[in-house]
Amino acid sequence: MLETNLSLGKKMLIEKKQRLPYPTGIILDIHNYCNARCIICPYTKLQKKIPQGIMSWELYTKIIDDYQHLMEKYTFQGKLTYCQMGEPFILKDISKWVKYAIERNIEVYFNTNASLLTPSVVNSLIEAGYNGLFNISFFGISKEIYEDIMGLSYDNTINNIVYLLKNYPRKKILINAVNYKWPKGEKQKVLKYWGERDISVTISKPLSRSGLMRNIKNPPKKRIAGCGTERVLFEMVISINGDVLLCCHDMARENILGNLRESTIYEIWNGKKFQNIITAIYSGNSLSPNFICRRCEESVSYWSIRRMVKNLMPDEILKAIKKRRNNKWIVSKKT
Ligand code: SF4
Repeated sequence: MLETNLSLGKKMLIEKKQRLPYPTGIILDIHNYCNARCIICPYTKLQKKIPQGIMSWELYTKIIDDYQHLMEKYTFQGKLTYCQMGEPFILKDISKWVKYAIERNIEVYFNTNASLLTPSVVNSLIEAGYNGLFNISFFGISKEIYEDIMGLSYDNTINNIVYLLKNYPRKKILINAVNYKWPKGEKQKVLKYWGERDISVTISKPLSRSGLMRNIKNPPKKRIAGCGTERVLFEMVISINGDVLLCCHDMARENILGNLRESTIYEIWNGKKFQNIITAIYSGNSLSPNFICRRCEESVSYWSIRRMVKNLMPDEILKAIKKRRNNKWIVSKKT
């Protein structure tokens, strides 16, 4: 599938990406269940196909300890979020998991639909020392639109958010609103509602999840030249059984790059399998026709103007852009 005998020019181009020898962020599936039924998410389809469960505490603590050692060795601030395609607050004792990580100086944040973020969960997190971000998926502001897209109770989630707003710093609460066939005027309503509450909102388009969602059109690319978000350069995604996946879009587990039961984060991140796949993604011409990145909206088309402009940019400007992105780093939520 992968061709790694690259020309010197291509090798230099990939090296220019400066992938660090460790991931600055981790998405960890401490479980992979979700209570929402979003019509823009392949969860319902995939839950019948992929193994579901809860990560063992033994494996969780092994991974967290390993990451802490990596942070100390390379002096960087590691970031952690949970559940690539699950809802973290399904776990009743979530604050125990969070406490273990923050006591090891890992910065934790949540991607959540907030439907289970009840006042008692908020209180237990605060008691555990949690002070990170809540990135809340809330797809629409009209009750019927929200409930149609997410399959959750609008009133229940709003009540949870109201409590959160009263008891948590607003600058640490973000709304992620995916515009899926919203009627005219909904976008303005969304902006007004959250704006009046002094909450930042990001409105984005739905993604096909690398072709898993047939209702979201995304023709595959003939040739790609890298990952537009550069997720594979800074972020590791780990399944409930310790399998390391290519990225958070690999919801169907197409590319397993190692397992953290038997290996360390460093070994897998710098291992041949991961390195070869990165080389292939960025080299532009050695991927099989059905490779996941070709079906992903976030890959860079080889022929895109953006890519050509980036290639012409001086290193200093590219570094400044990268630094800005890393400072604002948040992994987008499964939807
Ligand atoms: S292009 Fe898409 S599938 Fe490929 S690594 Fe980037 S985000 Fe993942």
